[in-house]
Amino acid sequence: MSAGVVVVGAGQAGFQLAASLREAGYADPITLLGDEPDLPYQRPPLSKAYLAGKTDASGLELRPAAYFSDHRIHHRPSVRIDAIDRAARRVLCADGTAVAYDHLVLATGARNRALPVPGADLAGVFQLRGRADADGLKAALVDARSVAVVGAGFIGLEFAGICAARGLSVTVLESAERPMARAVSAETASFFTRAHGNAGIRFLFGAGVTAIEGEKGAETVRLRDGSSLAADLVLVGIGVIPNQALAEAAGLAVGDGVHVDAFLATDDPAVSAIGDCARAPSRFADGASVRIESVQNALDQGRCLAARLVGRPAAYDAVPWFWSDQGPHKLQIAGLSAPSDAAVARPVASGLCVFRFREGRLSAVETVDRPGDHMAARRILAQGRTLSPTAAADPAHDLKALATGR
Ligand code: FAD
Ligand code: NAP
Repeated sequence: MSAGVVVVGAGQAGFQLAASLREAGYADPITLLGDEPDLPYQRPPLSKAYLAGKTDASGLELRPAAYFSDHRIHHRPSVRIDAIDRAARRVLCADGTAVAYDHLVLATGARNRALPVPGADLAGVFQLRGRADADGLKAALVDARSVAVVGAGFIGLEFAGICAARGLSVTVLESAERPMARAVSAETASFFTRAHGNAGIRFLFGAGVTAIEGEKGAETVRLRDGSSLAADLVLVGIGVIPNQALAEAAGLAVGDGVHVDAFLATDDPAVSAIGDCARAPSRFADGASVRIESVQNALDQGRCLAARLVGRPAAYDAVPWFWSDQGPHKLQIAGLSAPSDAAVARPVASGLCVFRFREGRLSAVETVDRPGDHMAARRILAQGRTLSPTAAADPAHDLKALATGR
């Protein structure tokens, strides 16, 4: 009997691959192995509705338990994979068992970068990646009075917005000179600095945390310039590191992610990688390989690989897009920008619309509270169209018409 497809990592990408395989008519066994205890779930609400108490754990699940038996997807929770035996085509689990595969998919995601300072392990210092982290944070928020957020990235800003809405005193400490410095333009960054500032959030840019101190738990955050601030809850959101150790130990090519080709295959034809852990070539990065940390990428790579595994190969070519809910605002980004890309802001009545250009070609569009413009931008980028910076700055130039080719 065929061993079928074995997926390591039962997160967003691993689940989507399994679901898309069944949708595409794949009939052999599918085994989804994950080290978390839950049914496969989505992470975005962990820093949004779930943390704010607007949805419960069942609202996170990607499918109810019955889906897995109905679709013959063998999901094994709480199982950690320790090694890949490529010669024997099997993975070795921490509980001593082994699982054979015909095709192995690495969908191991990423883990949070740790803050390398004394006191980072004190009670009251949190990170946010999984449901257990969110539950711990939720409980701590009940008695928290002053919050320090280390890192003005997506997690830090979403969390800061939730804390401010609860009336807590919040300070965001960021080592760069503006928020989301690698992800968005200076224009979009300053929109959010202003919006969060209006909600009472204090920002300290160029801030280096040197220690977190306290008797029983976090009380004081010390900074490189000698200053300090009081905080009984500290959230560290300073980025992630791809989970590539399994691939590396098995001799596969890695380097800030598991290296895959345009079809998401590693250098072993029996092993593929998708989602946060995979580094794949992208036309949106001028053919360079990129590792993208987003739900869209996890879903589209899962679908793309499923199509190849049922005999319909196509290069991965989906337009990258992201969203982030911060306070009352929705940031949406279509495309991939580099920090050096030019930025052209279109005058708009409300929200924000910023076009990014690399060597004169449209690379990305950042919008705030403008879902119509975001959808048009996705279509324009998917079709490989562009517009001039002059047209981008002209509100009379109809984006929808460009998107639909009319
Ligand atoms: P994951 O979902 O992380 O799944 C990987 C799984 O593999 C994990 O369960 C992990 O424990 C498991 N695993 C790893 N190694 C092993 C092993 N050796 N054995 C067994 N299991 C293993 N993206 C957006 O686009 N928009 C958002 O608004 C957004 N919000 C987010 C909010 C939060 C709080 C977080 C943490 C992320 C957010 N993201 C968002 C990012 C998005 O969730 C990720 O890009 C996505 O989950 C990636 O999917 P993945 O399957 O590659 O990885
Ligand atoms: P992130 O978006 O990469 O942001 C991390 C931020 O912390 C960056 O601005 C980084 O600056 C800064 N930083 C790094 N080291 C620091 C230090 N020592 N002190 C202070 N600041 C420091 O990562 P994240 O917010 O931690 O999110 C983690 C993961 O969740 C990512 O995969 C992210 O994509 C995902 N996520 C996505 C969304 C979304 O798309 N809406 C929402 C939440 C989470 P530099 O860039 O200069 O290093």
